[in-house]
Formats: sequence, C-alpha cells, structure tokens
Amino acid sequence: MASLSVPVFVLDTRARVMIWNRACEELTGVPAGEMVGTSEHWRSFYEQERPTLADLVLRRRLDDGREAVPQIYPRTEGAAGAPAVLSLESWCDMPRAGRRRYLAADASPIYDAGGRLSAVVETLRDLTDEKMAQVALEQLATRDGLTGLANRRCFDDTLHAEWARALRQQQPLSLLMVDVDNFKAYNDAHGHLGGDECLKRVAKAVASEMRANDLVARYGGEEFAVILPNQSLKGAAIVAERIRARVEQLQLPCRFGGGKHVTVSIGAATAIAGPDNTASQLVAIADAALYRAKHLGRNRISLPMGDAA
Ligand code: GH3
Ligand code: MG
Ligand code: MG
Repeated sequence: MASLSVPVFVLDTRARVMIWNRACEELTGVPAGEMVGTSEHWRSFYEQERPTLADLVLRRRLDDGREAVPQIYPRTEGAAGAPAVLSLESWCDMPRAGRRRYLAADASPIYDAGGRLSAVVETLRDLTDEKMAQVALEQLATRDGLTGLANRRCFDDTLHAEWARALRQQQPLSLLMVDVDNFKAYNDAHGHLGGDECLKRVAKAVASEMRANDLVARYGGEEFAVILPNQSLKGAAIVAERIRARVEQLQLPCRFGGGKHVTVSIGAATAIAGPDNTASQLVAIADAALYRAKHLGRNRISLPMGDAA
C-alpha cells in the first residue's frame, strides 16, 4: 500500500490511522508520521471536524447502521452489491495542502478470517481537473459569452421548467421581453465593439433588478428576456418599469438623434398555466406587447391588449 500511486489511508477499529501512504501524503500535504496512531485524519481534509467516509463505514459496522450517513454526506452512495462500501465525490478544503480539491473517495471494511471487522480502507482520487472542465463546459453551454447572462438555450429550458411548475402550483408566470431601442443606429455610430460594450452595460442593468428566482437571459442580438416566476402582471409591470428607468439612468450617450441616451422598450405578459395554453404563447404575447411599445414611440413598457398599463 505504501508504494501505491493511489492515495490511501487505513483506520483500525478505534478509528486510528494505521496506514497513510506516500500518495496520501502528497495529496494532503500531511506526512504519515503526523497521522499514524491518531484520529486526526479529518484535519487533512476539512477545516471543521467531521467524520471521513472511512469513519462512517466504521460507525455503520459498529453501531449497526444507526449513524445517519446521508445526513452527513447527502450524496453518499453504497456501491451496488456491496452495501458495506461507501463512495462519495465532494470538494475538500485540504487545509494543510492549502488548496481546495475535488475528491472521489471509496471506503470499504476489511474483515479478518473470523468475519470480524479489522480495519477500514479509504482510497482517494483527485478529480479536480475533470470537475473544473465539467463546470467550464456547463458554463459554456448555458451562458452567453458577451454578457455573462443565461443564453437562449438556458432560457428555453428554464421557461419550460417554470411553466411546468406554474401548472402544478397554479401560480402565475410572467415574462418580459426587453429590446434595445434603435440599436442598429447605435452600432452604426459607435462601431460594433462600442455596441458590444453597450450591450454589456444594459445586460448588467437589467440583471441588477432581478430577485433570486428570476432569470434574465440574452434572448437574441440586442434582446433580453426575463422570467418572473409567481409574479402577477401588475408586479411584472413594476419590474419592467424599474428596468426601463434603470437603463435610461445609465445615460449611455448615443451619437445620433440629438444627444439622446440608450433606452429599451419592454413587453410584458402573464399567464396562469393551464391545459389550453403553452409557454410559447406567453412568449408570443410578450413579443406582441414589445412590438406595441416600439410602435408607440419606444422607451416605454407595454402590457397585453386589454390590460391597462
Ligand atoms: P428597434 O428600436 O426597432 O429595436 O430598432 P433596432 O435598430 O434596435 O432593431 P434592429 O433589429 O433593426 O437592429 C438590431 C441591431 O442589433 C442589428 C444588429 O447588428 C445589432 N446586434 C445584434 N447583436 C449584436 C451584438 O452582439 N453586438 C452588437 N454590437 N450589435 C448587435
Ligand atoms: Mg432593438
Ligand atoms: Mg431586436
């Protein structure tokens, strides 16, 4: 075990470290001499005292499973066909190594010839690079590169999930479509890079008006969409007006139209999800309201026909 390239440590039945191999020293930054004979092994992984997976296997064996393993490690898995083995992936602070690592751990009991528990062995794998790559990929798949907002795909997924939830809970779901006014002219006057900078500033302003459960996405070029779960049309109109005013207050100058500032037009819509309507209809209604806001002169919010602004 000492020469295995896989980090391994072994606990005896009193939870004292028997073996702390070279690879485990390298991973944790803690020499075996400090660990062997002690029950301080948790210090290598966590700032606060908490049992390692090997400790849980021990307790399960010794306490006949009374320890509530899932409460300590909610995502622990017992391997199929070998219920004595516990597996887990999680971030560890690694205080001594001074770096946070994403570790996969497997802990299994070792029995003597008489079937009595004699030790527990825990093997570790450092999956930090894989985890970071996965997080980066998820980021790429769901975020818009220019503004950092949710992208169109994330918007579509979220809208359908929120629609299903609104249907279950019979709560209203509101949607805002936010479009930058005369942006083609802005690009013409400031260049495409200037236009990009403007979009970033507008995106930040829109996002600053969001609550925790709201989602703001870049819907397309210079158009943003805001999902407001459990929000009435009246509430949505208030949020829309705040967004409109916030963008206007940015006072982003445009070199056209006589010293004007960048503004947005916003269409709002609300639906109570039911068997006879769809999320796409909600988008269409908000779009129609946006079109009306443009038609009425821009830099304004508009509600669906029949609803007073
Ligand atoms: P309206 O007030 O009716 O919305 O007029 P508009 O000029 O904003 O609308 P239009 O749809 O004619 O033009 C949108 C412009 O947005 C055209 C396009 O070049 C620009 N645009 C779209 N995506 C980007 C982008 O990522 N960066 C920049 N700089 N411009 C973009
Ligand atoms: Mg526009
Ligand atoms: Mg547009």
